[in-house]
Amino acid sequence: MDTILEGMTLIDGLGNCIPDAVVAFDGQRIAEVGKKGEIQVLPEAVRHDLTGKFVLPGLVDTHVHLDMHGMADTYHESLVEDKLRTIRAAREMANTLRAGITTVRNAGSVNCIDIAVKQAVAEGLLAGPRILASGRIICMLSAGSEYFRGLYREADGVEENRRAAREQLKEGADVLKVMATGAVMNPGGIPGAAQLDTDEMRAVVNEGEKAGKHTAAHAHGARGIKNAVRAGVRTIEHGTLADAEALKMMADNGVYLISTLSSNYWMRNHASQSLEIPKFMSDKADEIARIRRENLHRAIAAGVCVVMGTDAGTPYNYHGKNATELVRYVSIGLMSEMDAIIAATHNAAQAIGMADDIGTIEAGKYADCLVLNQNPLHDIKCLDSLDNISAVFKFGKPVTGKVDTSQWSPASPLGPG
Ligand SMILES: [Zn+2]
Repeated sequence: MDTILEGMTLIDGLGNCIPDAVVAFDGQRIAEVGKKGEIQVLPEAVRHDLTGKFVLPGLVDTHVHLDMHGMADTYHESLVEDKLRTIRAAREMANTLRAGITTVRNAGSVNCIDIAVKQAVAEGLLAGPRILASGRIICMLSAGSEYFRGLYREADGVEENRRAAREQLKEGADVLKVMATGAVMNPGGIPGAAQLDTDEMRAVVNEGEKAGKHTAAHAHGARGIKNAVRAGVRTIEHGTLADAEALKMMADNGVYLISTLSSNYWMRNHASQSLEIPKFMSDKADEIARIRRENLHRAIAAGVCVVMGTDAGTPYNYHGKNATELVRYVSIGLMSEMDAIIAATHNAAQAIGMADDIGTIEAGKYADCLVLNQNPLHDIKCLDSLDNISAVFKFGKPVTGKVDTSQWSPASPLGPG
């Protein structure tokens, strides 16, 4: 062991809350977890006295867009040239890590920028969370995909979908993302309308599985959700208009629902103050907001595992504000504070197939954790307050620097305002 955290209250990601805890790191991994006095501390270990603090597993956001920057009109994102976009994505990932999110799954990136950023983080060139990269989103020929230059790979028929999946894997994707229905954020997209057919998505899922990688399906409408579940996807993103049959199919097949409440929340929060969000987008967001909240309740009642995903990068949904998602879970009565934390740690890690390595504070897992000054079980909002973050550890090392909020405003030079 080389590092000791001691004296804190440990919220371990498994539903336990342990006072006077001790966690020992050995290199990148957790070596031992116990109570004060139970673990023999070697004299050469670096000791962190965290008396009065609260330690959680590093959070896992299963749905971000690391090369989108929260601009009000997402079309403006497309006007940023790829090289600059990549540099900005690096800044977004530093903010994400410093906010306590130690792992993200990217859910679609322009021209595979996410794969380059992931590589740079892995090489230690940039500060950032562990990144599961998706490359481009595979979709059918449809209205609106041109709205995001370079984000989509249009593919029709089984053969072309297979090839599109292989292209993303060749680029280095860790996860494949498909469009099972239309979207909110592009003009002409009808969220309820099914898009890729089951056999097309199955071709993508099969290619991923051959390489040990899973597939995530963007799906609002019930028919598209069912098509995606039949095709074998691991996660449904949004799931807004799921009916009882779709939820049952998800529960029966162990398919996770990625909540993405934040995207609606931030868009609607700013819509009245801003004319910059395109009307087609805010209209569609308004239409689905209430249904999405209600449906998350129905999903949990049906036995579907709902996990943290924010759609960070969408309008006003800035990277580093990810924990707002958990505050929303509690404020709409969807989950207790403890369950919200589990949704962003243990369950999120399971959803993205990384439960052997991350998501809980247990011996053998990566030494990723978030240290807070206040107790998130008393007030979940302290997770969303940057002042409350005392430290973040990733791979057993303390993360340096603070979240840079200077460009979190509509008047930001990143945005058109
Ligand atoms: Zn998304």
